[in-house]
Amino acid sequence: MKIILIGAQFSGKGTLAKKIARDFGFKHISPGDLFRENIKNGTEIGLLAKSYMDKGVLVPLEVTVEVIKNKLQSEECAGGFILDGFPRSKEQALALQEISDIDNVILLDVPLDEIKRRCLSRRVCPNCGEIYSTTTYSKPDCEKCNTPLIQRDDDNWESIKTRLEVYERETTPLINFYADRLFVVKGQDDPDATYEPVKNFLKGKLK
Ligand code: ADP
Ligand code: ZN
Repeated sequence: MKIILIGAQFSGKGTLAKKIARDFGFKHISPGDLFRENIKNGTEIGLLAKSYMDKGVLVPLEVTVEVIKNKLQSEECAGGFILDGFPRSKEQALALQEISDIDNVILLDVPLDEIKRRCLSRRVCPNCGEIYSTTTYSKPDCEKCNTPLIQRDDDNWESIKTRLEVYERETTPLINFYADRLFVVKGQDDPDATYEPVKNFLKGKLK
């Protein structure tokens, strides 16, 4: 199955995508993660992407599509995939149409004041990618691999504000674009409660 996950920053998209990938065996693909991997490895793409990411604006279309296309066409994705963070604009959705047919689109819907509350509490493990919130996890190190947790370079209020504006302007039009295959889930509760209806929905689709 080929799935897209749409949601604002801090809606819990990454966490939800990981649960789906784990239970259904779909490959989890996040352009943000792919770019951060490139930055870590010092590649040309990483260097280019970083200048946009630090400002909180979208990386140019051709670069993003190139990175995604390579991934989607790789063997890892043969059993299905869940796209978390792509497409983020109508033009990216049109580009994706040329690469792949999407079966289901999940919209993770979280009210803006909840997003604001969550935004400065995110911590990530730079080693394994696990995501934490200081409101529910107060230890300094990753539970899985013991690496000290960090705050992402772009998790500052200026960048977050820009990313939320970009989401509103560029990404919300996708809700109409994919109206014929959209499943909406409320994401203000804890991650497991959010996942439950999604899991049931996807199980129904597999039958
Ligand atoms: P967030 O959802 O909190 O913004 P991500 O890790 O998904 O975090 O994205 C971080 C940054 O990576 C974005 O601000 C943007 O610069 C870049 N990026 C991620 N996804 C895309 C995309 N689909 N198109 C262009 N740039 C992207
Ligand atoms: Zn870790």
